[in-house]
Amino acid sequence: MDLIVARDRSELLAARAGLGIGRAGRYGADGGALALVPTMGALHEGHRSLIRLAREHADHVAVSIFVNPLQFGPNEDFSRYPRTFDADLEVCEAEGVSMVFAPAAEVMYLPDRQVGVSSGQMGTVVEGAFRPGHFDGVLTVVLKLFNLVQPDAAVFGQKDAQQIALIRRMVADLNLPITIIGAPTIREPDGLALSSRNRYLSAADRVTALALSAALREGARQTRPKDILHAAHAVLDEAARADPPLVLDYLSLVHPATFTAVTEDHRGEAVLTIAAKVGATRLIDNVVLTLTP
Ligand code: AMP
Repeated sequence: MDLIVARDRSELLAARAGLGIGRAGRYGADGGALALVPTMGALHEGHRSLIRLAREHADHVAVSIFVNPLQFGPNEDFSRYPRTFDADLEVCEAEGVSMVFAPAAEVMYLPDRQVGVSSGQMGTVVEGAFRPGHFDGVLTVVLKLFNLVQPDAAVFGQKDAQQIALIRRMVADLNLPITIIGAPTIREPDGLALSSRNRYLSAADRVTALALSAALREGARQTRPKDILHAAHAVLDEAARADPPLVLDYLSLVHPATFTAVTEDHRGEAVLTIAAKVGATRLIDNVVLTLTP
């Protein structure tokens, strides 16, 4: 079936109707289930893996492509964020996506917009401490996408670990009738996590950037929080002396659901998470560890 591209709410509703998805198109009901994969476009193999996972969970997949101005800070890369719409449509077509929702900013946000979602205290720590307002912007656009597309399920990558934790928090706190599905991080063979921002990296930047995944790997070989952080820091410190240098924003070991720092006696899952700049590009990566006694 041909890929449908919807630009606004009425085109979305028409697309849903065309696919036979009714208002009560919930899991188990007539009309088939719909899974949403929210993206900012510049689709790569990581996004493809999310789409494939979505297809396993639903009869139809919708992909949203929207570079959300609300989640970018004033000195961030909103204006130069890669926009590759035609190639993105080809990816969606090849992956069997039923509809793409690609609204203009004016369709998403009223000029006199007042109300948004607050990410609370959890949105101000770790990544949120370096990007004030970022997670409020993410949650606001995701809630709007949920209301517009009305999916039964939505798929998010573990690559953005604090983002998916906050989306799960929003679903619980606001009683959203949507199943959240997490997807593993897809990497290059040398370990670099795929990201739309990787295309900014020069050849030299890319070598330095390998320190993020290498630090996570070294940390994951240890068992105690202090040793995990120490081993990861050793790799990052070396990369800080490289050319170009890695400039670390943070390295943290946190609870996966709350993103508070784990204590030395913590047992169970923890997320080792890094953000760093290489040249003009800011990169993030993380790994989920299980700490045993
Ligand atoms: P973005 O377009 O960067 O906003 O990402 C859209 C979705 O793709 C988010 O849920 C990301 O977590 C996910 N994603 C980004 N990079 C990867 C990756 N390397 N592996 C798996 N999922 C990813």
